[in-house]
This record gives sequence, C-alpha cells and structure tokens, in this order.
Amino acid sequence: MQSRKRVLVIGGGLAGLISSCVLAKNGVEVVLFEKKQYPFHRVCGEYISNEVIDFLTREGLLPAHIDFPKIGQFEFTDTHGKGSRTPLDLGGFGLSRYVLDYWLVQKAMQLGVTLLERSNVIDVIYDQTADKFELELAGGEKYLGDFVIAAHGKRSKIDKVLHRPFIEKRSPYIGVKYHINSDLDRSVVALHNFEGGYCGVNAIEDQKFNLCYLGSREQLRSYGSIDEMEKHVLMKNPALNRIFKESEFLFDKPEVINEINFEPKLPVENHLLMVGDAAGLITPLCGNGMAMAIHAGKIAAEAILSLQSRKEVEKYYTQNWNREFKRRLQVGRWTQRLFGSKFSSTIAYYILQKSPFLANQIIRNTHGKTF
Ligand SMILES: Cc1cc2nc3c(=O)[nH]c(=O)nc-3n(C[C@H](O)[C@H](O)[C@H](O)COP(=O)(O)OP(=O)(O)OC[C@H]3O[C@@H](n4cnc5c(N)ncnc54)[C@H](O)[C@@H]3O)c2cc1C
Repeated sequence: MQSRKRVLVIGGGLAGLISSCVLAKNGVEVVLFEKKQYPFHRVCGEYISNEVIDFLTREGLLPAHIDFPKIGQFEFTDTHGKGSRTPLDLGGFGLSRYVLDYWLVQKAMQLGVTLLERSNVIDVIYDQTADKFELELAGGEKYLGDFVIAAHGKRSKIDKVLHRPFIEKRSPYIGVKYHINSDLDRSVVALHNFEGGYCGVNAIEDQKFNLCYLGSREQLRSYGSIDEMEKHVLMKNPALNRIFKESEFLFDKPEVINEINFEPKLPVENHLLMVGDAAGLITPLCGNGMAMAIHAGKIAAEAILSLQSRKEVEKYYTQNWNREFKRRLQVGRWTQRLFGSKFSSTIAYYILQKSPFLANQIIRNTHGKTF
C-alpha cells in the first residue's frame, strides 16, 4: 500500500492557503508554514477578479456570508485627472486580505491542515537519494516532505538561499495601502495616475474602501516621507486630491512595502513548485495577482493529487502554468508602460476613450476565464 503524501507549503497567502485546502480536502497531509501571525494586513488593492468565483464556490472556499461589493466598472484618470469609465466584461469584487486570508486559514485548519504560524522557513533542500525534501525553520526545527509548494510571495530571504536570479535586481517601486471611508461609487474600480505611479481605489467589506498605490522609491527618498510625497505627487491629480482630502483614513499609519519586482521567474526551481507571486508578480494595474495565486494554487494541488512521479508533477505544473499565466504576465509588464507619467497616461486615456476595442483587448489579455 502507498503511504500518504506529505506536502510542505511555504507561505500562507492565497496561493499557499488555496493549495493547502485543496490538498487537505483530498486526503493529503499538509504542513503550512507562515512567518507571520494571522490576522494581518497586506499591501494589496483587494480587488478580486470574478474569474475565481466558480472555483471558490465549488470548493466551499468563498466566504459568501460576507456582504462584499460587486464591482462592474473601470475608471481611469490620467495625471491631470481627466477621467474615463468603461464597463468590465467579467468584473470582480472587493474583500480585504485581513478578512479573506483569515477566513481561509480557519477553513484550512477545519480541513486538517497543520498550520505553523511565526515559522520562518530559512532553507529547503531536495535529497535526490531519499527523494524527499528537508525544510528548516529559523528556530532550527526540520521537517521532511514529499513535495514542497513554495508560495512565499514576490520576495523572501528564501529566494536568496535558492539563488534565484531576480533577487539580485533592485526594484524602483514601493507599495502603499490604506483603508478609508469615502462617498465614492462602490461599483467602480478606479486607477488614478500620478507622476511615477498609479493608485487603485475600490470598495471592500463593511462599507470601506481600499486605497493602494504603486509609487516610486526615488520620489519617496527625495520627499523624505510618505505624507510629503502624497501631497506633492499624488495629490497633483485632482481626482486623487479630492479622495485624499475628503476621505477618512482608517489606519494609524499606512502599510508600506518596497522591492516590488516584476521580473520573469520560473514555475519550477530546485524541484519546488513555485506558486502565486513566487512564480511571477503581475503588475498591480491588472488587478489580477490574487486570482492568479488562487488559480496556480489549484493547478499545483491538482498536479500532486493526480500524478505519481515527481517528473510528471513538475511537467504538468510547468505546462499548465505557462499556458495560463506566462502571456498575462508579459502583457501586464507591457501595459504598465502606459501608466505613471503625464505622456503615457494621456495616451492610455485616449486609448480608453477612442478605442474601447483595444482597451478591452488589453483587459482580456491580462485576465483569465472562469475556471
Ligand atoms: C501595490 C499592489 C497592489 C495590488 N493590488 C492587487 C489587486 O487589487 N488585486 C489583485 O488581484 N492583486 C493585487 N496585487 C497582487 C497580489 O497582492 C498578489 O499577487 C497576491 O497577494 C499573491 O499571493 P501569494 O499567496 O502568492 O503571496 P502573498 O500573499 O504575498 O503571501 C506570501 C506569504 O508567504 C509568507 N512568507 C514569505 N516568506 C516566508 C518564509 N520564508 N517562511 C514562511 N512564510 C513566508 C509571507 O508572510 C506571506 O504571508 C497587488 C500587488 C501590489 C504590490
């Protein structure tokens, strides 16, 4: 009789949580390592594409009891605040990561996942002779597993240990997030441009909004503080000026991250299945990284559930990952050039105004279908 597979999952974001839930539901032993303690906020726009709705509903992984806003329109303003609105084909919904991830953690534990919080993975080695992985935590504890799902997000110290090439490149971006109360339209996801970046605004649960932007590290350095940078750069866009002046900001201080890297990565490295941002972060303007993390988590779990040999699992995951995500990541990188400067955002404004067909093509090529 075959022994039960044991899967070690590094990182409890959406990619790690979804793959853990699907595996555990199907009888696999899962140990999930998360370096932080739930619940916690993450820098994220918290707009989730509807492509995940069918899958989450089918798997019982959608917190349907929460009254989250349905979002069906896209608004764009250039750096001068000139705006345009267009309906979204598929649309999405807004839900904070604080709520969604925490709810999924409870689900994962109900399904039998062993969750180890405050567990920072510092090394993972594949032993070819034993055909097993050995994973090590910062405290020195070691764990053995048959497969490892690396769902540690866009950048982690573990990437350095694994010698992943992108880790050497510095990124010019920072990410900043707030929750706010505002009188904005709750059915709209907006992208407001400013010199050096763009800011997303959309409704989430409890009548709140998420305001999250991708800005420039260099600008933050030259203005000396987030507050000064927002005053001198973001608020030059009249649409953002109004939002900043007329909204109630609900955090004591913003959530901030740096080193946001959009470099291409590989879906399988050192026999680890790289899932979610660990395999590549799509530019946030696509509003799609969460859907991709969920979808990739599903594919990784399916590969482990349905195939026996490591070679087959890695091949299935690589082929399906490339088919679903490679092009979307490329189009996302290309589209980002249309954002974050006066000149390019004016062009993007005219594309949206004069060529809804082209705008729709861009949206279609960065989004997947329901699965
Ligand atoms: C500014 C910005 C705005 C965005 N807006 C949106 C949006 O509106 N819609 C959307 O769909 N996507 C958006 N995204 C993208 C989205 O946030 C990510 O694609 C998504 O969070 C990826 O999920 P993940 O599970 O791969 O990684 P994460 O959610 O980052 O989870 C990784 C987890 O791994 C843990 N971890 C890391 N290293 C270790 C370790 N060594 N040991 C143990 N645990 C570890 C971390 O603590 C973390 O909990 C945005 C991204 C940015 C930067």
